[in-house]
Amino acid sequence: MKTKIAKKFQELFGCEGDFFASAGRINLIGEHTDYNGGYVFPGAIDKGIIAEIKPNGLGKVRAFSLDINEYVEFGLEEADAPSQSWARYIFGVCRETIKRGFKVEGFDTAFAGDVPLGAGLSSSAALESTFAYAVNYLFNGEKIDRFELAKIGQSTEHNYCGVKCGIMDQFASCFGKKGALIRLNCKTLEYKYFPFEPKGYKLVLIDSCVKHELASSAYNKRRASCENAAAAIRKNHPEVEFLSDAKRVWLDEVRSEIPEEDFLRAEYVIGEVQRVLDVCDALERGDYETVGEMMYQTHFGLSKLYEVSCEELDFLNKLARKMDVTGSRVMGGGFGGCTINLVKDELYDAFVKTATEQFSAKFGHAPKVYDVVISDGARKL
Ligand code: ADP
Ligand code: MG
Repeated sequence: MKTKIAKKFQELFGCEGDFFASAGRINLIGEHTDYNGGYVFPGAIDKGIIAEIKPNGLGKVRAFSLDINEYVEFGLEEADAPSQSWARYIFGVCRETIKRGFKVEGFDTAFAGDVPLGAGLSSSAALESTFAYAVNYLFNGEKIDRFELAKIGQSTEHNYCGVKCGIMDQFASCFGKKGALIRLNCKTLEYKYFPFEPKGYKLVLIDSCVKHELASSAYNKRRASCENAAAAIRKNHPEVEFLSDAKRVWLDEVRSEIPEEDFLRAEYVIGEVQRVLDVCDALERGDYETVGEMMYQTHFGLSKLYEVSCEELDFLNKLARKMDVTGSRVMGGGFGGCTINLVKDELYDAFVKTATEQFSAKFGHAPKVYDVVISDGARKL
C-alpha cells in the first residue's frame, strides 16, 4: 500500500512526504454500554489508513484518495468546506484542530486504506485519527494529547459528517496498541490496557452484509428503556447516575414498577457491564475459553433481552456454537453488520467455509470474512 501511495504522491506533487497511519477497530465485548455509562473494550486492528503528507506552504490542502480515485483542494477557513464526503473528514479534522487553538497549515497528501467501508470497523475513525495525528506531529510539535486527538475525530463526525457518534471508535484508533485491548469507562473516561494475544486462536468477523431499517428508531427506544429503568432504581438508590451504576438486585427491586420490556433491557445492560469485567479478569489469566463463553452470553443478551439481533446474525451465532467455535457474538449496534468470532486455529478453515456456504444457501448472498489482529493505532511510520 505504501509503495502505491508513494508513487502517486511523487506523480502529483513531485516530492516525498512523511507517512502516517491509523487503524480501524473491533470491540470485543461491551455493547450498548456506552450510553449507559458502562465499559467498552475495543482494540485497533491491522486494517487502517496510510497517508503520505508534506506541508506545502500554500495555505490549502491538496488531497488525493487512491481508493476513490479523486483529487480535491480546499482552504482552511470554515467557508472552504469541500463537498466530497471523504474530504470532509480531513477538512473537519483541520477545522477542529484550529478551533481548539492549535495550528494547521497547508499540506499535500495522498492516502489509501484497507478498512472495509461501513462494515462496522470504523474506517471513518481510522481516517480522522490518521490526519489528527499527522497535523499534531507536523504543525504542533505533538502538543495535543491523544484524548484530544480522539475528540477532534469525534467532533469531526458531529460537525462535518452528520454522525452523532460516541468516543469509542476514535479512542480505539488513537490509543490502540499491538496485542492489547483497552477497557474504557464511558462515564469517567478512565481506561486500562489488557493483554490480548490469543495464541492458537484467530479473531474473524463474518459480515452478514445486511442492515435492517429498524436500527435508529429501535436505538432511541432502547435508550429510553434504560433511562426509565435507571430512574426507577434511582428512587431507592440515589447514587445511580447511569444504569451501569446499578446492582442486579436493585433492578429486581423495581421489577413490578417498570414495563417488563424495560426490565429485560436493563437486565442485559447490567449483565454486560459485569461481563466486560469478567473478560478482563480472564484475559489477565490468559483464559480465552472464558472470554469466548462471555461472548456467547453477550449474544444471547443482545438477541433475547435487548432484542437488537436479527435472523442473519442469530444464524451465524448458532452455527458458531454448533461448530464449537470458542466465542461468537454480534458486534456493533445490531440489526445487521458482523459477528465477531474467536476461533481455534485448527477450526478456522472449516468454520469460514461452512459459514460462507450455509449462509449463502439460506440468505441468497455470501457473507464477507475479515481476519483481524489487534494492532497499533495512530502513529508515524
Ligand atoms: P465506517 O463504519 O466504516 O466508519 P462510515 O460511513 O462512518 O463507515 O465511514 C465511511 C466513510 O469514510 C466513507 O464513505 C469515506 O467517506 C470515508 N473513508 C473511509 N475509508 C476511506 C478510504 N480508504 N478512502 C477514502 N475515504 C474513506
Ligand atoms: Mg464511521
